[in-house]
Amino acid sequence: MAFIQEKMFAEMQEKTIFKKSLEFGSKYIDASFDRNVYPTEEAIQNLDWFNELMPTETANPVDVIEKLNQYGSPATVSQIGGRYFGFVNGSVVPTGLAAKLLSTFWDQNTPMYVTSPIAAQLENVVQEWLKSIFKLPLETVAGFVSGSSTANLCGLAAARFRLLQNQGWDINQKGFYHAPSIRVIAGKEAHSTVIKTIGLLGFGNDNIQFIDTDEQGRIRADLIPELDNKTLLILAAGNVNSGSFDNFSAICHKAKAVNAWVHIDGAFGLWASAVKKLKYLTTGIEYANSWAVDGHKTLNTPYDSGIILCSDKEALMSSLHMSGGYLVLSDDRDGMFYTPEMSRRARIIELWATLKYLGTSGIDQLVLGLHQRAKQFEAELSNIQGFTILNDVAFNQVVVSCATDEITTQVIQEIQRERVCWVGGSTWKSKKVIRISVCSWATTEQDVTLSVKSFKSALDKVTGKKDF
Ligand SMILES: *Cc1c(COP(=O)(O)O)cnc(C)c1O
Repeated sequence: MAFIQEKMFAEMQEKTIFKKSLEFGSKYIDASFDRNVYPTEEAIQNLDWFNELMPTETANPVDVIEKLNQYGSPATVSQIGGRYFGFVNGSVVPTGLAAKLLSTFWDQNTPMYVTSPIAAQLENVVQEWLKSIFKLPLETVAGFVSGSSTANLCGLAAARFRLLQNQGWDINQKGFYHAPSIRVIAGKEAHSTVIKTIGLLGFGNDNIQFIDTDEQGRIRADLIPELDNKTLLILAAGNVNSGSFDNFSAICHKAKAVNAWVHIDGAFGLWASAVKKLKYLTTGIEYANSWAVDGHKTLNTPYDSGIILCSDKEALMSSLHMSGGYLVLSDDRDGMFYTPEMSRRARIIELWATLKYLGTSGIDQLVLGLHQRAKQFEAELSNIQGFTILNDVAFNQVVVSCATDEITTQVIQEIQRERVCWVGGSTWKSKKVIRISVCSWATTEQDVTLSVKSFKSALDKVTGKKDF
């Protein structure tokens, strides 16, 4: 037996490294809710420890895990706690995390039923659950991908297939050379991943017909031209800055009547439809053809968890299809036909566990909680001279500005330096803004109040130390 094989058998048997990982992970959780949200300068400097040439010798396994914990853990961004408000990054539901931990030992690969019956079964079950949560057409299918970037890619690839098929053109065989044209229409504030995907699929960004948006970032329904079955219309459930929702009821029904393809980027916003008090925001989404949504944002599953939902199974499968003589297909679910990848980790397991644990009542409470904490931010910041709220806080996003772009930029830097919370900046209607995204189940009223205090002290510091 080779030395390395013998060694690894022993490690599997002893399990010291697994116990260490669990022990370190447990300590990490304990510290996560109070610690500095962003790593300290020192922790970041210590990352130099990792700079070494590729080792030649086999290491002590315990040492590998200990060093990873020692230098890695302090250099993480604590987003499982309650005061990370950057991008739209979710925390993690404990049961989802635990399911991921268990499934780590299973190390399943999920292209086909035959490679992992458990993963295929959970994909089938969760597909039905998601359809009922979002009230989507019965024929809708789901593919489990890494995030909404890929989900958008899948939805638009299905649209490309169907819209060209409508004109007697097989994109898979013939490609775009000499193809009939398709119109692509999107709101001016469509997410960057949508734009990227349009480029990647060969439509060309110059060919997007951008429609003006209103003061909340919603596509102006009155400016959308006459649609037809050669048109792809991309809408947003959750503007990435303001969290606003396009007017689906005014748009989707009309689009369906003429067989245009509507894709909804609902990365974080689609979950509003699971909340009694917020579902009015998504009225009409059921008339669209494809929907992209994340588990890892609003729902707080572990990363990476994205979902493509599509009511045209043939278009989705045809656009992502692969074949090969060695494939073992079954009458059951072969996950690779719903995604661009073949080998995939079984991310469905933690999505299933999160949904199973929360139930619809838990989802309702979790998502509504994000909205309520965002409203709290709005209320508390409005009371402080020097901060202005620029959006209607319809969902979980708050857009804030200071008196000038320069002050806003410096306040963001100062808040980040304080490390009580973490917020990023963005540009909104040509203004520099602070962008708050409440996306963690763990955010408490106290977390918001503490964070607002940090906003205030940052503003005082910036405006006190300089004359603007
Ligand atoms: C985050 C986000 C995406 C991209 O999703 P990933 O999961 O990061 O790939 C797309 N659209 C919107 C609106 C988003 O917020």
